[in-house]
Amino acid sequence: MEIRFDGKRALVTGSGKGIGREIIKKLAKCGAECIALSRTQEDLDSLKTEVCESVFMTLALGVPGIQTIRVDLADWTETRQAIESLGQIDLLVNNAAAFLMCPFLDTSEEEIDRIFDVNFKGVFNVSQVVARGMIERGNGGAIVNVSSNASMIGIKTLASYCSSKGALDSLTRVMATELGPHKIRVNSVNPAVVNAGMGIAYVSDPKNAENFLPRIPLGKYVGQCENMILYIPCVSESEDVANAVSFLLSDKAGSVNGICMLVDGGLAAN
Ligand code: NDP
Repeated sequence: MEIRFDGKRALVTGSGKGIGREIIKKLAKCGAECIALSRTQEDLDSLKTEVCESVFMTLALGVPGIQTIRVDLADWTETRQAIESLGQIDLLVNNAAAFLMCPFLDTSEEEIDRIFDVNFKGVFNVSQVVARGMIERGNGGAIVNVSSNASMIGIKTLASYCSSKGALDSLTRVMATELGPHKIRVNSVNPAVVNAGMGIAYVSDPKNAENFLPRIPLGKYVGQCENMILYIPCVSESEDVANAVSFLLSDKAGSVNGICMLVDGGLAAN
């Protein structure tokens, strides 16, 4: 199944590192003109170089541009102005998020605000501007929110993060309902443990790794020993998430709207 985004402009938030960075690289390879939004300028500069080099090497001709923009999504006004200045966006990936490991009883108001300002209000803000533009142009579009399996289960020490992702899933469904009539599809991907910033931070505590990883049914083949085939529990790669995102953004998912797609190696089924 070949996915192409030629002639489309794509905005990916939080694309300086981890999953967002992989999503930008994937969309650029599929022909989209990409806009990478993040907080750290050095990440954006190195991403620009990497994308230009890899796309140039694989395509040689017709290289779409990559634009970068440094914004703190926690700042509502700054974000709104920045997104309004970007012009046409056909594909939006709300990937940026803040993460906090803290027991429920110890979580402060400031910490709750910090998580919700980025993970929920940031998505609301960016999507309002982008969706308005899509409606005005009348050509539709596609939005993917990067949520988490944490939206669906209660994970100890992740009260504010889990709640923000639960709110995000709810927002995804409402946006799909309101924007669908304008030919704008809105879906989410919900990964579990990914080999990127937040997943690494979470399983670097051995208690979390012991509790979580053995429950992921999808094993990864690691070798053979005395006629036994050895598997380890699967931690997804950023590329697995980027593939799911690009499918949902593409016309191949033309009837898919309002879903929260687990990319969790089967964890929820176990
Ligand atoms: P990383 O921490 O590796 O990267 C997050 C990116 O978002 C960074 O580039 C960061 O920039 C940027 N960002 C964070 N806050 C802001 C902000 N206020 N304004 C602008 N940019 C910001 O995260 P992951 O790649 O691990 O996670 C990406 C997404 O995937 C998140 O939505 C996360 O919830 C979700 N997810 C991740 C999982 C995992 O196991 N990794 C599992 C399930 C879901 P900077 O570093 O400069 O702050």
